[in-house]
Amino acid sequence: MSASFPHLFTPLTIMGHEIRNRILSTGHQTWLAEDGRPGDALIAYHETRARGGVGLIVTESARFHASGIGEAKDLALTDDAAIPYYARLALAVQRQGAKIFGQLSHSGRVTRRMMNGMRGVVWAPSSVPENRFHTLPREMPAEMVAEIIAAAGEGARRYAEAGYDGVELMASHGLLFAQFLNPAVNRREDIYGGSDENRLRPLREALIAARRAVGKSTVLGLRISADEDSECGLDAASILAVCQRLSDEGLVDYINTTIGSMADPGASIHVVPPMEVAPGYVAAKAAVIRRGVSVPVLVAGRINQPQVAEAVLMAGQADMCGMTRALITDPDLPRKAQTGRSDEIRACIGCNQACIGHFHAGNPISCIQNPVAGREIQLGAPPAAARGLKVLIAGAGPAGMKAAVTAAQMGHHVILAEAGAQPGGQALLAQQLPERAEFGGLVTNLVTELRHAQVPIRLNTRVTRALIETERPDAVILATGSAPYPRVLEGEGGDVIQATELLAGRAKPGARVVIADWRCDQIGIGLAMRLTRLGHHVRLVVAGVCAGQNLQQYLRDLWIGRLHEAGIEVIPFARIYGLDRGTAWFLHTTSGAAVEVAGFDSLILVEGHVPDQTLEREIATVGLPTLSIGDCMIARSAEEAIYDGLVQTRQFLGALTAPVAAGE
Ligand code: SF4
Repeated sequence: MSASFPHLFTPLTIMGHEIRNRILSTGHQTWLAEDGRPGDALIAYHETRARGGVGLIVTESARFHASGIGEAKDLALTDDAAIPYYARLALAVQRQGAKIFGQLSHSGRVTRRMMNGMRGVVWAPSSVPENRFHTLPREMPAEMVAEIIAAAGEGARRYAEAGYDGVELMASHGLLFAQFLNPAVNRREDIYGGSDENRLRPLREALIAARRAVGKSTVLGLRISADEDSECGLDAASILAVCQRLSDEGLVDYINTTIGSMADPGASIHVVPPMEVAPGYVAAKAAVIRRGVSVPVLVAGRINQPQVAEAVLMAGQADMCGMTRALITDPDLPRKAQTGRSDEIRACIGCNQACIGHFHAGNPISCIQNPVAGREIQLGAPPAAARGLKVLIAGAGPAGMKAAVTAAQMGHHVILAEAGAQPGGQALLAQQLPERAEFGGLVTNLVTELRHAQVPIRLNTRVTRALIETERPDAVILATGSAPYPRVLEGEGGDVIQATELLAGRAKPGARVVIADWRCDQIGIGLAMRLTRLGHHVRLVVAGVCAGQNLQQYLRDLWIGRLHEAGIEVIPFARIYGLDRGTAWFLHTTSGAAVEVAGFDSLILVEGHVPDQTLEREIATVGLPTLSIGDCMIARSAEEAIYDGLVQTRQFLGALTAPVAAGE
């Protein structure tokens, strides 16, 4: 029980298993599995969150039948030899006081997976095209459906034998069991298609098989989208009917709700909704299911703060709250909230960059604000220094702030100097883009970390050679950022504005605007949207395949939809090279042909950035150990800046002082 969060810290008992609080880490792909099994990295990842106080961890979906396509980095639970690996994970989580449930999943037609670089054989209820990964699956024979049902029982048995407290069968997100439920993609005419009863049969029989396998001592739950929110997906009413039926029959002990479908780009945005989506937005839909069933209902969907979770629980919309990304960002969130230290929580900002962004790129998940996530073994506890150094850090952007926190945690005396009036660097500009104010939370979180590390920021203080000679530090860390690439255009005439100038409020564009977007990220899209809303006529010309090419898919697709709705013309594959009295000239990036965009008042350049090496050159002969991090090493994103601030700083300062061995 906690004074601030009385509902959040009230235990919940499901089938005799008492869960210590109402915070849940939902099943999410981590890319940390080893040969399809939990290994040390996955154990360290979940153990860290269990130690931080989470009530329940649902581990990521495991393939339980050979027809489900997967890779070595996905979990599989298709043979008994895997059981000891899962048992190690279960024990590690339970030792920290958390409960652990395991997911069973079959993706059916919704798969991007390759087998040895080739596309695998995709099986589904019927041969109906899938709209996101562009699969046209092969219809499962009835014998295969029966095999999958039996395999679900076997998978559940293996989880129970591994000591898991519960098993969760996935029928969410348009996955296989949802495909059977959906008449738009299940066109079968056998006992698994046609009537509601037939389409429910695979899910119902799989739950019966799982229950038979695990008995009454292991919790059995269902993950389902309360609404697939897709033109060819399941609607809320039909899902409610399924949940009521399964609850009434006693086939499920809880229902874990989300929304969306992985089967089409628009609906897939809900799988990991970005910051543009309101916190806790699924709760109202979960509440409808909760009113209709007699088992606990869990919910996820941008529940990023304990205050949001408490409100959901207090309103009676759900019995537990999935706070998955909040726990990736800050594994200690539950303990901090429970012990009155909510102001110390590093809140997830919904950027999608390093969690789902890494996963989609085929890398282990992490967090832009918490580089330790997914790297618990390599980056676990900060090393302590044998002797404290005086460290001067130039620049209080994300890299400099993280470096200052890191150096202070190692025991060094830190001076953090910022030339500007505020800390935050480029993040201050990024938060100016439409619906991106939450990006500024990254700065707030780092300022909080600095406060707890007792590092003040000297604002309006430019680090110079003279300052260094006055302060006489032992080491200098340069985090002075970057500046837009000074592109030289052929021709002349016309108003040319750098995007950073516009974001900083130092430029005013004319009525007709052309945005030349080399970066293909959030900046070009955001400026196009902002200026359109202000009444400008905007054309967005991108030097890539599409607007937002370099963004995480859910974020990209959300904004491509909004650009379309706003009627903004997007011209792909075009790189600016010149202008001539109201006409901008681009080069088609593949054909090399000229692309003419005529009739504009202002041309806005969205460029890459070049490192600011001014100070680096100025102090090159001072003779002090110096490290350049973040954008002033090479301009990338906030993720790399914060990673540098942690990892490079540890390595740099560690090399200057011998670390103290534990126990000395
Ligand atoms: Fe949240 Fe962004 Fe971290 Fe993902 S990378 S957990 S969205 S802050």
